[in-house]
Amino acid sequence: MCGIVGYIGKKNSKEVILKGLSRLEYRGYDSAGIAVHSNGINQLKTSGKVADLDAKCIKEKLPKSSIGIGHTRWATHGIPNDTNAHPHQDITRNFTLVHNGIIENYLTLKKYLAQNGIECKSDTDTEVLVQLISYIYNKDKISFEESVRYALMKVVGAYGIVVLCGDEPDKIIAARHGSPLVFGIGDSEFIIASDTSPIIEFTRKIVYLDDAELVVFTRDDYYVKSILENHIILKTVNEIQFSLNQIEKNGYDHFMLKEINEQSNSIAESMRGRIIIDEGRIKLGGLQEAIQDILNAKRIIITACGTSWHASLIGSFVIEELVRIPVNVEYASEFRYRETIVGPDTVLFAISQSGETADTLAAIKKAKSLGALTIGVVNVVGSSIARETDHGVYIHAGPEIGVASTKAFTSQVTVLNLIAILLAQAKDRNIKEVANLVNDLKLLPEKVELILKQSKKIKSIADNYIDAENFLYLGRGYQFPVALEGALKLKEISYIHAEGYPAAEMKHGPIALIDENMPVVFIVNEKGYEKIISNIQEVRARGGKVIIVTSIDQEELHEYSSHVIHVPSIHQCILPILTTIPLQLLAYYLAKAKGCDVDQPRNLAKSVTVE
Ligand code: GLU
Repeated sequence: MCGIVGYIGKKNSKEVILKGLSRLEYRGYDSAGIAVHSNGINQLKTSGKVADLDAKCIKEKLPKSSIGIGHTRWATHGIPNDTNAHPHQDITRNFTLVHNGIIENYLTLKKYLAQNGIECKSDTDTEVLVQLISYIYNKDKISFEESVRYALMKVVGAYGIVVLCGDEPDKIIAARHGSPLVFGIGDSEFIIASDTSPIIEFTRKIVYLDDAELVVFTRDDYYVKSILENHIILKTVNEIQFSLNQIEKNGYDHFMLKEINEQSNSIAESMRGRIIIDEGRIKLGGLQEAIQDILNAKRIIITACGTSWHASLIGSFVIEELVRIPVNVEYASEFRYRETIVGPDTVLFAISQSGETADTLAAIKKAKSLGALTIGVVNVVGSSIARETDHGVYIHAGPEIGVASTKAFTSQVTVLNLIAILLAQAKDRNIKEVANLVNDLKLLPEKVELILKQSKKIKSIADNYIDAENFLYLGRGYQFPVALEGALKLKEISYIHAEGYPAAEMKHGPIALIDENMPVVFIVNEKGYEKIISNIQEVRARGGKVIIVTSIDQEELHEYSSHVIHVPSIHQCILPILTTIPLQLLAYYLAKAKGCDVDQPRNLAKSVTVE
């Protein structure tokens, strides 16, 4: 998953690269490295974070240079150590390369190189690529650019790469297939990176590289080519949409806390201009031309991974309830390989914060090849999913840096509700119900504020559970996906084992786990209230500690639990947005109290661009 940066211009490339890498650290942070041109290639690598690399650059006096590349890694092949860290160099030390992705045929290539006298030093899949480029360069006596192109034609898998060549010190070559790359065009300078965050400080003019494309930068020019056909491709120059302070912490201890607190605003942004106030109707420009096709579809599939999958599940409930079209929610990683029933009468919605999730992207390609209409619901403007799908709706939550997704989730649920309303209105269904929902949507931001005001209380509840080793989260109906999301948040950042379950399913297994050491979080809403009260009693009867998150004002809830967190009441289709926020805060404060690295939890990376 890793983050990569390359720079060519007039500045000290080390400064640009290290700052860029620290902005990309959410993508991977187990080791880091940098290489610059200065009388040959100078390179430093270390296990650990970008701060460790920075210290190494100072200690070992990395020479000043105006051209260089850098990498922050999320290991797929080979443990995170200094040798496996990127950049990787070939045996002649003429080429050095950073890579994001997986070279799937690396063992075959490694064998081929070994037969030709080239032994790899690292355990990575990446190293074979730089050795192959060098081998082709020396054997065929062709240019840097041609060698990269030919080597890439032999590679199976996913890559975003940036390469330097000692023989051509005024050139950077980058290429992509399956892993994101975007470059910024500055004043006599170019920066290429995994996303726009390292670029924004220097220029707002950007170009997205597409699959099977290669870009060559010289000091004052660039050109993009097709890897397979070798012809020039004219690219559109876009504008970066966000501001620098949106990707800074702005005084918060962690990005995650900042993003939790931004939710009244991010939800408002997701709805901005999309509810026509006077008519109570929804307008989603990116879906306008697809409405009839969606309404004619035999079924809808929503595909996603992780937190986005939980948002999708809520979305499926809303669409089935309001629009009455059957909806299946599929893990993208399963859907892409399963014998699914998909055809021209299927509409596939793909939900992803980054818009780069490898499995989701592959699911879209599969659905498209089978004739389905595809629709993206993503946060990152211009991302691969946004460009790959036939139609789309941005969630406009703003940049999300914390690895554990928070504001993207609530904006995804908001936008899925807007989509369901749009479809229900186009179909003239549930008019009164839909009007109530539209009215309540408008109240969401202020109701979110009321929950955020309870942060202190939630922190003090969290303090009671820092020794807990397990948690159970239970909910019914619309609150079942919330239970899944609450458990995922806790696992991700506090490393406490947690399970989310439909409350009634507890009896079919998890109840065996309940004893006096097991905190159980119940998310209680109006529908099925009596039933869930019985489930609470079942937990109490076995000594479990009960925490309740609810929109219901009932005295008995205090009696049945150790803690009650109230959220304002609102239409049940969007209540999950309100009930999730206390669970985000609970996870945050528990992780913080345990001294965990909240923004960079172990083994995780934000944007999962590998399978
Ligand atoms: N496969 C490469 C490695 O393990 C790159 C991983 C990544 O994209 O983070 O080093």
